[in-house]
Order: sequence, then C-alpha cells, then structure tokens
Amino acid sequence: MQQYDVIVIGGGPGGLAAAYPLAQAGKKVLVVERDLWGGTCPNYGCDPKKMLYSAVQAKSYAARMTSAGLNGIPDINWPKLMAFKRAYTRTVPNGTRSGVTGAGMIAVDGEARFIDERTIAVGQDQYEGQDIIIATGVQPVLPNIRGQELIKTSRDFLDMDQLPQRVASSGPGTSAWSWPTSRPKLAQRYMSSCTATGRCGRFPKTP
Ligand SMILES: Cc1cc2nc3c(=O)[nH]c(=O)nc-3n(C[C@H](O)[C@H](O)[C@H](O)COP(=O)(O)OP(=O)(O)OC[C@H]3O[C@@H](n4cnc5c(N)ncnc54)[C@H](O)[C@@H]3O)c2cc1C
Repeated sequence: MQQYDVIVIGGGPGGLAAAYPLAQAGKKVLVVERDLWGGTCPNYGCDPKKMLYSAVQAKSYAARMTSAGLNGIPDINWPKLMAFKRAYTRTVPNGTRSGVTGAGMIAVDGEARFIDERTIAVGQDQYEGQDIIIATGVQPVLPNIRGQELIKTSRDFLDMDQLPQRVASSGPGTSAWSWPTSRPKLAQRYMSSCTATGRCGRFPKTP
C-alpha cells in the first residue's frame, strides 16, 4: 500500500489551500479529486459567475454613460458569452492538476472512500495517510417538492446554451442567491423576468 504524510480528499480551493503549503513544507502529499480539478469555484461557481456578470456590468456602465456622450448600449450575445466562459473553464482542470503534480504532489482521479481512519480507497487502489484532510465541499440540495426534476441548480444556470425568458430563483443562501442576482442582478439584466422566493422572506447581501 502506498503511504503518504497527508492525503487530501477534494481538489477544490479548500483542499488545495491545505495541500500546497504542506507540500512546500516537505510533506508527501496525495490529492484525490473525483470530478473537475479546481472544484466548484473556478469550474462551476465564482469564476463563471464573474465572467458572465462582467458583460452585464459593461452594459450597465455603458447605459449609464449614454447621457454623458457614449453612443449606444451594447447587446449581450448569450451563446458567445457562454463560449467565452467555456473556453476559460475548459482549461481549469488540466491546469490545476498540472499545478498539483508540478508542486511534487501525487494527483489521483476518482472517488475516495474510507477503509479505516488512516486508509482510503480509490477504485481498486488503497492509500494510507498519516493525516487525512476532508475537503469535499458541498452539494446542492433540491427541495422535495412536486416537479423537482424541473429544477435547475446554479451549476446548470451558469452553463445554459440558451437563456430562458423567465426564471424563478429560490433559496436565500449567499451562493444560491448570488448567481442570479450578482450585484446588481445578473438574471434580471439578461431576462425579461426574474422572480425570487425565500423561506424567510429575507435575502443576504451578495458578496
Ligand atoms: C454559483 C456559485 C458562485 C460562487 N461565487 C463565489 C464568489 O464569488 N466568491 C467566493 O468566495 N465564493 C464563491 N462561491 C463559493 C466557492 O465556490 C466555494 O466556497 C469553494 O469552491 C469551496 O471550496 P471547497 O474546496 O471547500 O469545495 P469545492 O470547491 O466544492 O471542492 C470540493 C471538491 O471535492 C471533490 N470531492 C467531493 N467528494 C469527493 C470524494 N469522495 N473523493 C474525491 N473528491 C471528492 C469534489 O468533486 C470537488 O471538486 C460560489 C459558489 C457557487 C456555487
């Protein structure tokens, strides 16, 4: 069985923030990722959101400047914007994985499961770690309601080929809420209608 000082489960920002300094300190580090290297933030979250939103922001600034000498408000071409976003996100997993191996760590693709407190398995292979860091992030939880199969998550929304004319947003959590509303409201700027619902009737400020 292969032995490591530290095994990190999850190749997202949390796992990598722990892994890099440990490797730099001379520890033998293994990182396991079951999906896309880089995790939620650069692949499905912060970065895609900011890339889409930057076009909205540019349009918004232009609109504000029309009375100050700027002619015309630019149109947003959603398919082109999505292609721009995908051109960026496509490079993230390989780039992140190369960073991990380039820093002297071992990168393993697959789902880690515990065998005992110091041993994990990925597929048929087992790895032992003096310490094991669990940095597996979170998953969206869909409400158990009729029509649940029609619900889209933020991940779906940020990768849509076509933008729907109307959207209803549910969930008052910061991440859940920030994708459609990113200052000042991604979805509302693109769409004809955006309706928000929240259990408490209160929404946090977006980060
Ligand atoms: C739409 C959206 C917008 C966001 N915008 C911002 C923002 O603007 N600013 C900001 O600071 N934050 C933002 N966030 C939050 C940010 O993405 C998260 O805080 C961050 O990604 C958390 O990092 P993490 O490493 O803990 O988890 P993750 O990034 O989710 O990484 C965990 C990784 O672990 C892997 N994994 C899980 N289980 C296993 C297993 N058993 N074996 C192997 N691998 C496993 C997963 O595949 C995943 O890649 C946003 C999130 C979303 C959804």
